[in-house]
Amino acid sequence: MIFFTAASKHLGVRRFASRAVDGFTGAVGNTPLINLTSLSRKTGCNILAKAEFMNPGGSVKDRAALGVITDAEQRGSLKPGGIVVEGTAGNTGIGLAHVCRSRGYKCVIYMPNTQSQEKIDLLRMLGADVRPVPAVAYDNPLNYNHQARDYAKGLENAVWTNQFDNTANAKVHYDTTGPEIWEQTQGTVDVFTCATGTGGTLAGVAKFLREKSNGRVQSWLADPPGSVLHSYISSGGQLKERSGSSITEGIGQGRITDNLATEIAHVHGSLNIPDEKSIAMVYDLLDAEGIYVGASSALNVVAAVELAERFGPGKTIVTLLCDGAYRYQSRLFSKSWLEKKGLLSAIPEHLIKYAVL
Ligand code: PMP
Repeated sequence: MIFFTAASKHLGVRRFASRAVDGFTGAVGNTPLINLTSLSRKTGCNILAKAEFMNPGGSVKDRAALGVITDAEQRGSLKPGGIVVEGTAGNTGIGLAHVCRSRGYKCVIYMPNTQSQEKIDLLRMLGADVRPVPAVAYDNPLNYNHQARDYAKGLENAVWTNQFDNTANAKVHYDTTGPEIWEQTQGTVDVFTCATGTGGTLAGVAKFLREKSNGRVQSWLADPPGSVLHSYISSGGQLKERSGSSITEGIGQGRITDNLATEIAHVHGSLNIPDEKSIAMVYDLLDAEGIYVGASSALNVVAAVELAERFGPGKTIVTLLCDGAYRYQSRLFSKSWLEKKGLLSAIPEHLIKYAVL
């Protein structure tokens, strides 16, 4: 195996950039690319994963939050003291709340009232004005996204950041995540895969790698049950009704967002990953690598392994570890919750010891 020099021989710690960075936003991005050694050994490929859980707000969405706010500033729609409004139930809200605090904006978050108290508390601790609203479908005007849009419309110096259809989201991955992957693999990346919520990560990284490699790098979608994108890609562009559900929070999609729209035609293929495989990989990564990540990260790694098997030994497959398991541990590490979801039996017997809650 090649080129992994990230750990200092002296201290056993990651070598950081040699200079200080400015504030919270200066610490976003430039995450390590981790060789998942047990899986690389098993597959004969380089299975590499960007440690997005090491962003300062704890997830890949710190990049998007910084991207959409910077874009609004540059376009002049957000001025000092302004208000950022978003409809989000998770990591984007946390990223936005951090960036808003660090840049002096007010942050208003609309979310479905089905969300956990922990999420609401965290956003409020980060200074956000959290507005739980009825959990209704996207085509209902009371949906949290529409309420966020309508609220921002009536205010001075306010933006609705619109993470799904604001392409500043994909652009930040084109400008940062993609180039980081290229540099960290010294251009040897063969295949990139990740799951999609807004589609910003997949579209931005895939576009960058496609252009930079003159079409050599393949990008594959990793999709959970309940998303329409797998069948859309596999059927050559037919959009079905959404059906089914998944334990993987933050991913899965029912439509072609503007962030996905231009790049999805270039995506080479798609893998549908069942929850049984994702939850087993949450435990595997912990046991074999000491890496504690959420279910979307685990799903991404399952896809990377399946692509390693498909493409054969010697390939370099890159994916993302989107966030840590901390935000989901009361579920993912609870025997009774897993039992209720019918997933307890998906965890190999020697790993069940980790389900301590
Ligand atoms: N994983 C997690 C945990 C997320 O919160 C998200 C964003 N909702 C994603 C993956 C997907 O990222 P994107 O929105 O860029 O498609």
